[in-house]
Amino acid sequence: MPKTDLKNFNLQELEQFLSGKGKERFRATQIFKWIYQLGATSFEQMTNLSKDFRAELEATACISEFTAATVEEGSDGVRKYLFTLEDGEAVESVLIPDEGRNTLCVSTQVGCAMGCEFCLTGTFKLKRNLTTAEIINQVCAAKKDAEIRNIVFMGMGEPLQNLDNLVRAIEIMLNGNGLQLSNRRITVSTCGLVPQMAELGRRVTVNLAVSLNATTDELRSQIMPINRKYPLKELLKACREFPLPSSRKITIEYVLIGGLNDSLEDAKRLLKLTSDIPNKVNLIPFNEHEGAGFKSPTQAAVDAFHKYLIDRNVTVITRSSRGGEISAACGQLKGKLDKLKLINEVEDV
Ligand code: SAH
Ligand code: SF4
Repeated sequence: MPKTDLKNFNLQELEQFLSGKGKERFRATQIFKWIYQLGATSFEQMTNLSKDFRAELEATACISEFTAATVEEGSDGVRKYLFTLEDGEAVESVLIPDEGRNTLCVSTQVGCAMGCEFCLTGTFKLKRNLTTAEIINQVCAAKKDAEIRNIVFMGMGEPLQNLDNLVRAIEIMLNGNGLQLSNRRITVSTCGLVPQMAELGRRVTVNLAVSLNATTDELRSQIMPINRKYPLKELLKACREFPLPSSRKITIEYVLIGGLNDSLEDAKRLLKLTSDIPNKVNLIPFNEHEGAGFKSPTQAAVDAFHKYLIDRNVTVITRSSRGGEISAACGQLKGKLDKLKLINEVEDV
């Protein structure tokens, strides 16, 4: 019998698991605290549980953890973690420091099925969903290096395609006996899976970011296939209806691609499309990578786009030099690993 990984349970599920062993509810709270607040990875450490109980747990359960296969540190302190999974797949997280208000960019899938033309993760196709434990372990591992204040689900994968594990991981993050994060500091980013946006909102309260990236259905359908299923009108309606934490705004992510979606006409349409949605705009200059036929925008185009929106009272953040490193969360480190593997395999022959 394989052991049950307790990191796949939210608190309620842990209570159920333990009640199956005839244990009281508060035992689950104790264990949850050991795991998420004290970082315990063995039952031996749990000194407020009886020896017998610990032995019983040891026999049937385990607490998984991640150790990074590689950590790359950027010039500005951005740390990219690569974690190897039990089946040999790999997944990455990015820690973005900001004067003690650290943000961790978390992955939810190995690869991605959405096939956005400009995105490196998309070219890997979907290998599989991450388990709840694999999502939460990214946070637990980074937490050993730095206090994590914000979580953004902007790493590899489309979070809303792995909704159950996403929601369970968020429940662990929000739980007062778990990671104790605030729902105002957790943001789920989606390419626009409309029904799942509504379901996410029904199940948990968190911030939402939507990767818009184009202002006409024609262009959006061309670069983001999901738009053929859920066109702009439906997507914007889902944004309008999304139940955010109080006084929060939806983040509209917009990857500026040189000569494709970076004109003032685009800025104008963006303003119009989002005018009735409380929002802030996150401009991300396209990060060039091998194999993509797209170009980064010129600095002048980025500045003009930014200014157009700022002048019309839109809250805009442009990810400048850091943008490259942050969007490296989107599959780029894994890309390097695969290339390395390929080189090694070729050399082995
Ligand atoms: N699948 C989700 C979350 C992960 S992608 C989503 O699409 O929202 C995180 C962000 O990186 C998205 O906004 C995406 O548009 C952006 N992105 C993807 N490839 C990029 C690249 N090469 N340069 C800059 N941003 C990119
Ligand atoms: Fe997937 Fe997001 Fe990349 Fe699109 S942008 S392929 S949804 S990870």
